Amino acid sequence: MDANPRLQPTIEDLELLARVSQLLNEVDLDKVLSQVIGLAAQAVGATKASLFLHEGGQVDWNHVFTMRDLSASESVRVVSRVLHEGFAGWVYRNKKGDIIYDTQQDARWIVFPNDKTPVRSALCVPFISDDHVLAVVTFVHDQPRHFTPYHLRFMTIIANQATIAIRNAQSVTNLSAQRRQLQSTLDSIADALFVLDELGHIIHVNPTAVALLGERHSAQVVGYHLSRYLGEDSLLRPVLEIIEQRSDESMWRLDTRSDRQGRDYQVTMSQWEEPLRGIRGYVVVMHDVTTLRDLHRFKDEMLHIASHDLRSPLSVVTGYVNMIALDTPDPNSPVHEYVDIIKRNCERMSGLIDDILRVERIKSSPLELHAETDIEALVKVVLVNMRPSAESKKQRFEAQINLSGVPHLVADPVLIRQAMENLVGNAIKYTPEGGLVRVYAGYDDRRFTFVVQDSGIGIAPEHQPYVWEAFYRVPQSVAKEKGHGLGLSLVRNVIARHNGEVTLQSSVGKGSRFGFWLPLHTPPGS
Ligand code: ADP
Repeated sequence: MDANPRLQPTIEDLELLARVSQLLNEVDLDKVLSQVIGLAAQAVGATKASLFLHEGGQVDWNHVFTMRDLSASESVRVVSRVLHEGFAGWVYRNKKGDIIYDTQQDARWIVFPNDKTPVRSALCVPFISDDHVLAVVTFVHDQPRHFTPYHLRFMTIIANQATIAIRNAQSVTNLSAQRRQLQSTLDSIADALFVLDELGHIIHVNPTAVALLGERHSAQVVGYHLSRYLGEDSLLRPVLEIIEQRSDESMWRLDTRSDRQGRDYQVTMSQWEEPLRGIRGYVVVMHDVTTLRDLHRFKDEMLHIASHDLRSPLSVVTGYVNMIALDTPDPNSPVHEYVDIIKRNCERMSGLIDDILRVERIKSSPLELHAETDIEALVKVVLVNMRPSAESKKQRFEAQINLSGVPHLVADPVLIRQAMENLVGNAIKYTPEGGLVRVYAGYDDRRFTFVVQDSGIGIAPEHQPYVWEAFYRVPQSVAKEKGHGLGLSLVRNVIARHNGEVTLQSSVGKGSRFGFWLPLHTPPGS
């Protein structure tokens, strides 16, 4: 022990503390660790020092500083043994610092056969954060009784300071690792991504977005306002329009097109905000849907051609088949049976063509009739028309209609009735015998609502978004019931043309609630 152990800190000690505090701003973990050890070793007059950093309960081998010159494999062996049986392990488990005044008298000091420098005394302190030992530092000296309780107290203070510095540096290291990970994810996605500030200046872009703007490097784009790119291409115009509206919504979906590249995009735009720094802006993701749009256009054209061009040959076939029947006077001839089969199939085909044409007509032509429609009377007609089908399947057919006083609706009554009948018809069709079909109709000051609930087979969530599309049929129902998959597409088109919306809740094996609402005061689009 020192002849006269110090009790008060010296100027040098205070200076050391100040220098460790300065490391709080240092973000390089290696630098923090080596400087802390170097400064501290100097302060306690140690001949050498070592440190083990613990991360998530494991020794962080990137940050092991040993006092011996060891190979990597030797280092693992020595550090593991010291941490299990040695002095550093004792400090680690007890979460408090200690001194070995004489290594020859203390079993906690392990002597390795190839130790070059003799160690006679040691001081070891833990760096503790949130009750976890982050690191353990050991200082050694070649003379016994070199370290004093004052050194231990002082090193404990240094350790507290250093813990904060290590935590800060670790957070920054973790953050920058996450940032790099995020960056490479964003760089590799095929969608174009823009991060904008509140006014529409570009803060960040990924390579797809850079290419979309006709540039090669993000540096040519970042910092500029979106309006810079509006001259040659209206791609970003809808985005800018939303920014200029300064609306309170947090998310938008919109469509846009690049004239320069001749491609269509579906855009998802959301607001971001950093309240602490008082800044906000937008994240814009553009998904290329050109192929999908082309396919849709192609499908529509094919449907159009098929439905129109099939009609006339079909009526020719039906005409000639009737003539064959007339020219076959023998009622027992098998020809009549063949003719019947041909006629039945022609009728099925013509029904399908009618359905396609109806969907086509609703999509593309103006609504034929805008009449003041008594919606209550219309619902009653639907109930009367549909009841017999439900009864033939022994289903309970119930109605809850609250429409007295409902204002007249400007609508195409034939199409609206057809839409209602399609929903009720499906409910009856996809509900087994003896099931329940219940029709609700009501209104509030803004909307008329129509819902059909059934206790039928239901629809799995993954199919629900698609049932409204033309020709889509849920695979499970195909085997059970006949259909073309056009009814719901017709309903959706009719309702959309009247500025309303369709609704669906369903659960497999329990039943479905198909419905729609119509605005009571807006005239339908034409
Ligand atoms: P279709 O009934 O002619 O097949 P729709 O367009 O009317 O065509 O319906 C599309 C698909 O939606 C149906 O094939 C069926 O799988 C499903 N579906 C419609 N209504 C119901 C219902 N009430 N319950 C269960 N499935 C339904």
